[in-house]
Amino acid sequence: MTIPSLVLAVSFLPFFEAKNTAAGFLVTPPPEGTSVTCERPSFMTRETCPACEGKGELILQEKNFGQADGRLGAGLKKRVKCAVCKGKRKLDTFLKPADLTLQVARDREKFVSDHQGRGEVPVGQAFVKPDDYEQIKGDRAKLKLIEEAYGKPCNACNWTGVEPCKKCDGNGTIPCPNDDCKGGWAVTKTKTSYTRTKSGGSSLNGGYNRGGFSSSGGSRRISRTEEKINVHVCPDCEGASLVLCPECQGRRAKPCRKCNGMGTKQKGYGL
Ligand SMILES: [Zn+2]
Ligand SMILES: [Zn+2]
Ligand SMILES: [Zn+2]
Ligand SMILES: [Zn+2]
Repeated sequence: MTIPSLVLAVSFLPFFEAKNTAAGFLVTPPPEGTSVTCERPSFMTRETCPACEGKGELILQEKNFGQADGRLGAGLKKRVKCAVCKGKRKLDTFLKPADLTLQVARDREKFVSDHQGRGEVPVGQAFVKPDDYEQIKGDRAKLKLIEEAYGKPCNACNWTGVEPCKKCDGNGTIPCPNDDCKGGWAVTKTKTSYTRTKSGGSSLNGGYNRGGFSSSGGSRRISRTEEKINVHVCPDCEGASLVLCPECQGRRAKPCRKCNGMGTKQKGYGL
């Protein structure tokens, strides 16, 4: 992964700062009417559909899997609505869980270095201004309160509150599950066997002979197997060759079960 691609639309920094401000109110209560919200950024985004690259439709050009041998002209060409995004061009999804993880790590690092740079004192995951710290440093109960107010990262999701979908590895799509699907085309073979009795003649004609013949008197019994290759647009992926992940419906992730999507391991204080 290249670092410049990781300019996510979300930052955890305001979240970390808001938590710190709220925890700091335990030392110096805020003026009447102050409120702080500690919401994590929204992780939902609309992303270009990977199946149609945002076109909303697919142009399916039939390839030759053997079915078109001897046929003249180009194969079937079809324009279909993209089944992955249902023609909407975009998918509602969580940001890539791996990117979120990296973003959290960066924002946390920045948060820590900003506060350390101002000479603040760490209390759990929070930072307390030097003057404030002087007031409370002997007060273990208060220190504990501050620590709990800020909270600790959930060890399953590390602040993000989401867990990547295991079925699709956080991709949102999986390769088409149809075993017969070759790049969006379902290729199946049908075999037809038949036996015919022929009288006279001297050779077995045609190129389809898989069986044999037996002679009885002047007639021959000829058994043939004809193999036919059938090609049609794959019914599972409708030509896209991938499908939305059935577990996460393309969302890549779901709220972390360990922390109920809160991102924190927190007791008591629901900040
Ligand atoms: Zn699409
Ligand atoms: Zn969690
Ligand atoms: Zn398919
Ligand atoms: Zn999934």
